[in-house]
Amino acid sequence: MAVNGNGSGDGRKRLPVVDEGALAYDHPLYDTLLNVPGLSVATTSLDALLNWGLMNSLWIFPMATSCCGIELMAAAASRVDLDRMGTIVRATPRQAEVMVIAGTITVKMAPRVKTLWEQMPEPKWAIAMGSCAISGDFYRNLYAVVPGIDTVLPVDIYIPGCPPNPEALMQGLLRLKEKVALRRAGKLPPHDDRPGMLDVTRPSIARLLDPARDRALDQQQEDSALNASSFDRSDEPEDGEERAPDQLPDAIASTPPAEIEALLRDEFGVTELAPKDGAPVVAADKHVALARRLRGMGYQIFVYVVATHFPEKTGKVVAPERFEVAYALRTVGAGSKLVSWRLKLEPGQEAPSLVGVFAGADWQEREQWDLVGVRFAGHPDLRRLMMPDNWEGHPLRKDYPADKACPPWR
Ligand code: SF4
Repeated sequence: MAVNGNGSGDGRKRLPVVDEGALAYDHPLYDTLLNVPGLSVATTSLDALLNWGLMNSLWIFPMATSCCGIELMAAAASRVDLDRMGTIVRATPRQAEVMVIAGTITVKMAPRVKTLWEQMPEPKWAIAMGSCAISGDFYRNLYAVVPGIDTVLPVDIYIPGCPPNPEALMQGLLRLKEKVALRRAGKLPPHDDRPGMLDVTRPSIARLLDPARDRALDQQQEDSALNASSFDRSDEPEDGEERAPDQLPDAIASTPPAEIEALLRDEFGVTELAPKDGAPVVAADKHVALARRLRGMGYQIFVYVVATHFPEKTGKVVAPERFEVAYALRTVGAGSKLVSWRLKLEPGQEAPSLVGVFAGADWQEREQWDLVGVRFAGHPDLRRLMMPDNWEGHPLRKDYPADKACPPWR
């Protein structure tokens, strides 16, 4: 049994990748049949029979996580019809021989994929379908994505493409059949570790903690996160300058409906009803009461809560670090009306939770806590939603390093 990847050059602990491909096929029935006197003569070659059976019953366990999964589904449909080569898709690892990994695998998903792989009986094979499964593709350097499923389990067939079409999957299965036959005949060359391949598979930018990483890059990344914006702001007015009304984007220029204007102004003390940078700002300690009032006025759909991190600015424009949390509600039915407002929070300040007013706020607030790090006071179960429980930091904060290392998965 070959065990790869146990430890790495940078001293980080990695989970072992176990390749059981070289193990002998073992089954009580197989042993019995081999010992029946004369049976091998009768069938000419029991091995040939078993090979034939193995090659023509490659049942797939689908690990379809994103768009490539649609092509996998299409391959099982009538035009390509995988059934005709004895390949059917089973939604259980215990009755499948081939895991087809079709789609992006995230750090949160990787341990589940590995557990399912370990539940598949031997002999088993893996197909990496599409460039996300092969290498992480354009998500490769993202904090949450595993840079190739072969860092988690041994892969037998790689099917390139974004996405590969069903015919390509069919071709991959035909090549796998050849590989099964070669392995059964003992003619498959042993796995060849090629250190040179590491240079090809290494991420384009060395990750944090990698000794090969240029330290200047950390500084550069921090500067660009703290002082620059990913949006083109070249047409924005300098601080203090007013933008002419006809320059305002529609969503920002539009004022709340008249009855909401009156409510915000008279009951919640909002003086600026159409600020140039977004929705009206409401005091954090009043916004639960506002949500209740709006709900009573027919705004019964909780559309979103979205938090944004604004890091401290130290360049030409100086501004302290802050968070903004935007909310939107909608009325039900035809001619639906939308109302939105914002909270401005200091670092460490909590936003009162709206779960008591709208049940739908539960998961949305958890998501914002998970990704941006805004806490919601009074939330009944504020824990991570998207990222694994042991994840460090909040990846949508502007000062979060995009290539943060997450051993052992990336
Ligand atoms: S390889 Fe392309 S089609 Fe397949 S999962 Fe990735 S992005 Fe989607």
